[in-house]
Amino acid sequence: MPQDRIYFFDTTLRDGEQSPGCSMTHHEKLALAHSLADLGVDILEAGFAIASDGDFAAISAIAQEVHGPKIASLARARQEDIERAAKAVERAARPRIHVFLASSDIHLEYKLKITRDEALEQAAKMVALARTYADDVEFSPEDSTRTDPEFLCQFVGAAISAGATTINLPDTVGYATPEDYAGMFRMILEKVPGAERVILSTHCHDDLGLAVANTLAAIHAGARQVECTINGIGERAGNAALEEIAVALKVRADVFPYEHGLNLEKLYPVSQQLAGTISFGAAPNKAVVGANAFAHEAGIHQHGVLSNPLTYEIMTPVSVGVPANRMVLGKHSGRTALRSRLHELGYRLSAADLDIAYRAFTELADRKKAIYDQDLINLVAHHQRHEDLISTETTASSRSAS
Ligand code: MN
Repeated sequence: MPQDRIYFFDTTLRDGEQSPGCSMTHHEKLALAHSLADLGVDILEAGFAIASDGDFAAISAIAQEVHGPKIASLARARQEDIERAAKAVERAARPRIHVFLASSDIHLEYKLKITRDEALEQAAKMVALARTYADDVEFSPEDSTRTDPEFLCQFVGAAISAGATTINLPDTVGYATPEDYAGMFRMILEKVPGAERVILSTHCHDDLGLAVANTLAAIHAGARQVECTINGIGERAGNAALEEIAVALKVRADVFPYEHGLNLEKLYPVSQQLAGTISFGAAPNKAVVGANAFAHEAGIHQHGVLSNPLTYEIMTPVSVGVPANRMVLGKHSGRTALRSRLHELGYRLSAADLDIAYRAFTELADRKKAIYDQDLINLVAHHQRHEDLISTETTASSRSAS
C-alpha cells in the first residue's frame, strides 16, 4: 500500500443513514451509491447487514451493481453478524467486512458485560472468522479514544495477528482533541508489532466540532484511511465531513502532500443529491457545500472578489462543482437553460426525459417564483423514484465502466 495516498471510506449510507432524519429507501441508497462511486470514494460502507432485511437487501444490491469502490458491511464481533455481512457483500468485486467490538472499560462493563480478556479473545476469534470470508477485513475497537492505552495496543495487536488488514480507531463519542487523536496513532505505530503493515484509519464524530481537525491530525500521525460522510451527517453531531477533508487536502497540499481518488467537482452535486434525499441539507454557512460558502455580501469583499477572487476565496466554486452560472431559473426559462443547469448538477438527460422534466419544471415554475437547484434535484429524483424514466449521468457512467 502506498504511504502517500489517502483512502476515502464513505459511511454516509451506514453511520449517516442511522442518524435522525436520514433514513433512505432502497432506491435512494442505490442512487447515492452510484454517485459516491462516481465521486471516487475508495470504500463504500453500504450498511449494517444484520440490522434489518432492508439494510441487507441494499448492501447486496450495491455490491452487485455499483462498481469501483470496495463495498463494506458493518458487523458486530459475533458469528451471525459476520456471516450475514459476508453474505451481503459476496457479489462485490472487492468485498470488505468491517468488524467492531468495544474496547473501553465503560462499554465493556456496562454495555457488553464482558472482561478485557474476554473481549481480546472475541476480537481475535471473530476477525479470524471474517478472514475466512474476505481477504479484506477491517477491525474497529469501538470507543478507542476512551480506551486504556495499554489495552488498546493489546487489542489492536490481537486483531492484526488474527488477520485484520485495516485498523480503524474510532472517536465514537467525539471526545478527542487533535493532539490526543494524533498521539493515539503514533502510539499504535510505535508499540504494536505489525501496525506498519496495515492501513490505519480515522473515524471522527463532531460532538466538539473537531471531527475534521482530528482526522487531519491523524493523517499527520500516519493514518491513511479516513472515514467520513457527505455533508457530515451521522450519529448525534455527525461524522467528519468528506467534502471538508477533501478540500483541506487540496487547498493545503503544501502540508498534506497526498494523493487520493476523489473527483472534487462532484462534491457539490452529491451534497445536493443527499440533501434532496434526506430531511435536511447542509447549513447555509457550512464549509464547501453551504449556500453561503462562496457568497460575498460586504462591499469590501465584493470589490476584492471582483478584482481577483483569490482576495477572499481560497478555492474556486467551480473546483468543487458549485455551478459558476448563477442565472435564476423561472417560468420564462427555456429547455436549454434547464438542460444546462441539470448538466451542471451532474444529470444528463435524453431528449425524451428532458421533455418530461421540462413539463414538470414549467408546472413548478407556475407555482414558485424562482426555482433553486434543490427543486430541480427533487424533480429529477421524483421521476427516478416513481417512473424510473430519467437516468442520471452517474448511473449511466458507473454502469458503462463496469
Ligand atoms: Mn460512528
